[in-house]
Amino acid sequence: MTDSEVRVRIAPSPTGYFHVGTARTAIFNWLYARKMGGRFFLRIEDTDRDRSKREYVDIVLDGLRWLGLDWDDEPIFQSQRFDSYKPVAQELLAEGKAYRCFCSPEELNRKRQQAQKEKRNYRYDRTCRDLTETQIRERLDTGIPFVVRLKLPSTGTVGFDDVVLGKAQKAYEDLDDFIILKSDGNAVYNFAVVVDDHDMGITHVIRGNDHVANTYLQKELYQALGFKLPVFAHVPLILRPDRSKVSKRKSDKGVTDYQQEGYLPETLLNFLALLGWSPKDDREKMSRAELIEAFSLEAINAANAIFDPEKLTWLNGEYIRDKSNHELAKLVAPILIERQFSTKYALETRWQWFMQVIGALKERCKLVSEFADKGAYFFIDEFDYDVKGVKKRFGKPGVRENLTLLYERFDNITDFTEATTEEALRELVDELDCKPAELIHPTRLAVSGLTGGPSLFLLLELVGQQQVIARMKRAVAYIEKMGE
Ligand code: GLU
Repeated sequence: MTDSEVRVRIAPSPTGYFHVGTARTAIFNWLYARKMGGRFFLRIEDTDRDRSKREYVDIVLDGLRWLGLDWDDEPIFQSQRFDSYKPVAQELLAEGKAYRCFCSPEELNRKRQQAQKEKRNYRYDRTCRDLTETQIRERLDTGIPFVVRLKLPSTGTVGFDDVVLGKAQKAYEDLDDFIILKSDGNAVYNFAVVVDDHDMGITHVIRGNDHVANTYLQKELYQALGFKLPVFAHVPLILRPDRSKVSKRKSDKGVTDYQQEGYLPETLLNFLALLGWSPKDDREKMSRAELIEAFSLEAINAANAIFDPEKLTWLNGEYIRDKSNHELAKLVAPILIERQFSTKYALETRWQWFMQVIGALKERCKLVSEFADKGAYFFIDEFDYDVKGVKKRFGKPGVRENLTLLYERFDNITDFTEATTEEALRELVDELDCKPAELIHPTRLAVSGLTGGPSLFLLLELVGQQQVIARMKRAVAYIEKMGE
């Protein structure tokens, strides 16, 4: 570790899905590390044994990998560091910077309730702060359980400089001699974080501004322990369009949901990076390299950021169009296989064709999953007709006859392509003296079940002569039934 090296971390608590806010904070940390040639660490804050689960850890790790946020070294698990905290607390006790508090939870509760009744702010009244050595010994000998509290000044203010928020300040009157070790000997969250960040050599703490209240307490610990204070950057929260906080409880989506719905990692990376930070020009679409190049902590905005789902989808469409058909085909294939629209073997043996299908749909898809939604008919013959389409396109007089005439023409084509199908259709239009739309629309519905999609003639070529004719015959039979 060199003196000037930037060392940052993301410290997720694995108690549920991978929240977009955590992902965004991870992105800021990662961008900063990569920009500064520093290091980005991962610390899993899994000390809450009831709520932390291994499967949640995997969700976070998979999400970070998917976003391409590679971390340095092995992840650190807080649960494996239980023994690191006690000796540090003992040092503080020995130096008189912390003290044992023997007050029982019942007693403290009573005092808290009394304060509530009198409409006073509750603060620990420091009963145990000045116990004599003998008093302490007596209590220890009787086996009274105790917690360890940090001694805080009674007057004055605590403050820290924050890269994003500027100067943050609070009166000591509003702070408690807070607990650092619980009666079971385990460290509380704020204590563990400071010891961990120090042991990991963290130079910049970049985290959500919901942690500002913790930072005041953590700063006291840094000082008491004689640790060098890191730079703090508290980043804004992410809000929904109605300005409420994005949260799991309101069933907001996590990173995995976006992944499964067909968003690309480059989209989410780009989109989240711009929630609370901007390059100060009008760029909305930025590659990984451009983000690293432009990123700075100073340009993080203090105001909370609004998550606009429409913008996310728009951006994803842009990234989809940037991808080659081959790249997209590789992403779409597993979805088709999962939905049983096709098999790995079938796709691999017709890869060139598959890429053409992807190319035909590309302009219309903003999500990877939409290729399967909007292009199912390229892979399966059994589909339902769009209900409105049926009324509009199959309900007209003469449709059945026209479709019959057209599939007969199609049957006679020797080289079934975009050009030859178009030629056949135009010829029939001339002979029937009708509008092209009168043949085009019902044919599209017959062959795809849908009313919109890629150019009809390209679609016909890609579906293939036999299938096209079979599907048109099926539609003719369907229309016949409709008339009965
Ligand atoms: N585990 C905390 C959280 O998930 C992170 C706190 C920190 O970054 O210091 O919010």
